[in-house]
Amino acid sequence: MTESSTVAATADLLVRTAEHLFDSGVMSHSGHANLSARLDGERFLLTPGFVRGLRADQVAVVGVDGQVLGGRLQSASTEIVNMHGVVYRTRPEVGAVLHTHSPAATAFAVAHQPLPCRTEPMLRFGQAEEVPVVPWGPRGSDVSVRGISEILAQRPTTSAVLLANHGLLVFGPDPRQAADLLTAIEESAEAELAARALGGAVDFPAGALEAVRAYMARAAS
Ligand SMILES: [Zn+2]
Repeated sequence: MTESSTVAATADLLVRTAEHLFDSGVMSHSGHANLSARLDGERFLLTPGFVRGLRADQVAVVGVDGQVLGGRLQSASTEIVNMHGVVYRTRPEVGAVLHTHSPAATAFAVAHQPLPCRTEPMLRFGQAEEVPVVPWGPRGSDVSVRGISEILAQRPTTSAVLLANHGLLVFGPDPRQAADLLTAIEESAEAELAARALGGAVDFPAGALEAVRAYMARAAS
């Protein structure tokens, strides 16, 4: 594929991922999200600061170091560039990063509580461990980005983090798989909150999460 057709196809994938997230009911009332997809080792595509009604020609090209290389970002969203860039720099295997304010997951972020892995979809889509909380910092600030970087180092197999007092950041090999995990995390957060009325959610049997992590480690090697 030529450079321009690769960019166009990847931008189109981000537009379809945004539509899929709305269709799945995981967006907050504001519809706020920013979605990105890797182009190569140095660059990724990033939505411009909104995703409702997004067109493929509105997606920007950004360097993993945070420099805008093509297209335009709304002023506020230049702050979130590094939130995506730090994941691409730290995790070479990551092909897509999605950020939303999905309501139930955000409840855990606001409560500064990690979201345990206690549902089958979370296991199936690869998050066989709790979703950890990154301490609050103004979004895209050095504090927040450093916090994400530290958690990624401490949790080399996590595919998502909660951003304290803010929302959810999920990453995966491509936008569709990341969107599937994001939906599984939001469903898990809803189930976790609902189960509290019934006496509280219960862990998987001992060893279940370790078995899935071992399987995934073998599949990745
Ligand atoms: Zn946000």
